[in-house]
Amino acid sequence: MFKLPPLPFDAAALEPLMSKTTLETHHGKHHAAYIRKTNAALAERADAPSTLEEAVRLAAREHDKKLFNNAAQAWNHAFFWQSLTAQKSEPTGALKAALEETFGSIGALREKAKARGEGHFASGWLWLVADAKGAVQLTDLHDADTPIVDPKVTPLICCDLWEHAYYLDYKNERGAFLDAFWTKLANWRFAAAQYEAARDGGAGAWRFPA
Ligand code: FE
Repeated sequence: MFKLPPLPFDAAALEPLMSKTTLETHHGKHHAAYIRKTNAALAERADAPSTLEEAVRLAAREHDKKLFNNAAQAWNHAFFWQSLTAQKSEPTGALKAALEETFGSIGALREKAKARGEGHFASGWLWLVADAKGAVQLTDLHDADTPIVDPKVTPLICCDLWEHAYYLDYKNERGAFLDAFWTKLANWRFAAAQYEAARDGGAGAWRFPA
């Protein structure tokens, strides 16, 4: 049985960029429902994995859409909370160098990430990922899809593109939400730790709490 992990900050800590109401609904209702439905789907199986990462990969292998959608959303949201911070941060060190090599500058990365998120049709997630060589890339995935099913990459940070992530605060202005995320809310300290793990082949990367 997986439990809803608590937010790693107070629900009001990101105001006004992300409101307490948004976070209480997003975490307390949406995320909680994905966890509940994942547990219900796993309760039907004798071979239920002990980690959420394994549950996501098992569902992907077996094309079990119901389990995949709920388990991946349970995982993605927990990772998204880690991707947010009230203590504004900037990319540093080796991660900063890799981002500058790929995108030209951190400003250019932010513009590219905003454009990619705005251009994404309907629901999904925007991810920054890195491979074991340290190469970084932006990728947008649909619905519940998640990079943890790809053994070649480690996610560094993600932004939820589902309307429930921003509609109460930004209405239909996804671009304004993406600006806030990439310039103020993105947790680059977390991304830097993930980047170190990526270059170690994913060992030590963040895991959903067991
Ligand atoms: Fe969401």
